[in-house]
Amino acid sequence: MNLQCRIEIASAYKSRSQVARSVSEDWCARELYCPACDSDRLSPSTANTPAFDFACPLCAQLFQLKSSRSWNLKKVVDAGYEAMMRAIRADKTPNLLLLQYSPNSFVTNLLLVPGAFLTENVIEKRRPLSFQARRAGWVGCNILLRQIPDDGKIAIVSASAAIPVRNVRAEFSRVRRLGELPPSLRGWTVDILNRIRQLGKTQFSLDELYEFESELRALHPQNRHVRPKIRQQLQILRDMGVIYFTRPGKYSLRS
Ligand SMILES: [Zn+2]
Repeated sequence: MNLQCRIEIASAYKSRSQVARSVSEDWCARELYCPACDSDRLSPSTANTPAFDFACPLCAQLFQLKSSRSWNLKKVVDAGYEAMMRAIRADKTPNLLLLQYSPNSFVTNLLLVPGAFLTENVIEKRRPLSFQARRAGWVGCNILLRQIPDDGKIAIVSASAAIPVRNVRAEFSRVRRLGELPPSLRGWTVDILNRIRQLGKTQFSLDELYEFESELRALHPQNRHVRPKIRQQLQILRDMGVIYFTRPGKYSLRS
């Protein structure tokens, strides 16, 4: 993988965001492979669609690219809030590619967030644009990366080094079954997995997860039965192969 972008691609553009967009799209079209299958390339979207930027020609996975000089692992500014919520409920969120490039146009970091990890609790509603703005009243959203467990943040390039393709595909495959759950259930799965990762250990107990009960109730105000939900999600994570049960009330993460 050649991490150098071709800056001359953007000679027609003046604004920094247009330059970033064209240079990074060109780089992805040349260098990026599909993390979901054996395809060694991704096809740029031909239609002028805001929903995705690349599609895999073999398995039809969709990808949306966001590129920037800065690198913020807490949150990413995204497009319209309502459109994002509709996409989540309809199970149509593309995989997200977050690309950072250096002042001399090298790709320094590239993170893949599988679309299934973009759940309602990961999306933050922004304040409506003020009445002076061209699109007054329009409401955008932020993607809260800190609400996504590390399982859903797969490095393709890290600190100016490409991660081996087989590792990226193995990571993507490991969490693929999350996308098979209905969106209404998946939000809980992501929230529970994030809490398990926050515990920071390979072995944990049900009681430790119950400590998050009030926090989870605040995130899911429509659900009053948080403890049964936690137990249900542990079974789902076991069936996905992420954890296993060691003895009653005790669990272990699969490495
Ligand atoms: Zn593919």
